[in-house]
Amino acid sequence: MEVTEVKAQDGKLVAVRPVLQDSAVVDVGYVSEPGIIIGRLNAFDAKETGGSADVVDVEVELSEWSTRATMVTRGEQRGGEVNIEDAELLVGGGRGLGEKDNFSMAEDLAGALGGAVAATRAVVDAGWYPYAAQIGQTGKTVAPKLYLALGISGAIQHKVGMQSSENIVAINKDQNAPIFEFSDLGVVGDLHKIVPKLTEAIKAKKG
Ligand SMILES: Cc1cc2nc3c(=O)[nH]c(=O)nc-3n(C[C@H](O)[C@H](O)[C@H](O)COP(=O)(O)OP(=O)(O)OC[C@H]3O[C@@H](n4cnc5c(N)ncnc54)[C@H](O)[C@@H]3O)c2cc1C
Repeated sequence: MEVTEVKAQDGKLVAVRPVLQDSAVVDVGYVSEPGIIIGRLNAFDAKETGGSADVVDVEVELSEWSTRATMVTRGEQRGGEVNIEDAELLVGGGRGLGEKDNFSMAEDLAGALGGAVAATRAVVDAGWYPYAAQIGQTGKTVAPKLYLALGISGAIQHKVGMQSSENIVAINKDQNAPIFEFSDLGVVGDLHKIVPKLTEAIKAKKG
C-alpha cells in the first residue's frame, strides 16, 4: 500500500514506501507471489508504454479474520472546486497555521489578492484542507506568478512542486526554516500577527 516507487533487485520485485508518517522510506519485499502493489495517489504518472502483459486469474484464499471488515459507505473527497494549477497567485498554508480553522486566514488573504489557497501534505494528511490543494511530490506542481507560503518549512517534497513559481514569499517564525533558502523574500515572524494585518492592508489598498 502507498507505494511511491517500484524496482527490481536480483530479479525480485521490491516496492518502496514511506512509513512512520512519512518520516522514513523503506524497501519492501514479498514472501510469496504474486506481489500486489497499490500506489500512493499521484505518485505515478499514467503512461502508455506499449507491450503486452498476461492477465492471469489468481485463486485467493481469504483468512477468516480478513473478511470481518465491511464497507459501510463510500465517499468522494471534497475539494474538486479548488483549482490551484491555473491560479496566478497562490497562498500556501502549512502546519504553522496551527489548526484547521486558521485556514480561513489563508483564504481571506487569497481572496483579497484574487488568488487561490494551496496546502502542504502535512495539513492535507491532518484533514485541515482538501487533497486537491496539495502541492509537491505526491501532489500538484504549480508555477504561479506569486507563491506566498504561510508556516511552511520548505521540505524537499514540497519544494519540488512550487520551486518554479516566479516569486516566492515566505512567512515563518523560524529564521532557519529551509524555505528561506529558495525564497525571493523572507519574513521572519508570527504569521498569526502578520497575515491579518497584511490582508487588511491589501483590502485597504484595493479600496
Ligand atoms: C514520499 C514523501 C512524499 C511527500 N510528498 C509531499 C508533498 O507532495 N507535498 C508536501 O507538502 N509534503 C510532502 N511530504 C511531506 C514533507 O516531507 C513535509 O513533512 C511537509 O511538507 C511539511 O509540511 P509543513 O511545512 O506544513 O509542516 P512543518 O514541516 O511542520 O513546518 C511548519 C512550519 O511552520 C512554522 N511555523 C510554526 N508556527 C508558526 C507561526 N505561528 N508563524 C510562522 N511560522 C510558523 C515552523 O517554523 C515550520 O517551519 C512528503 C514526504 C514523503 C516522505
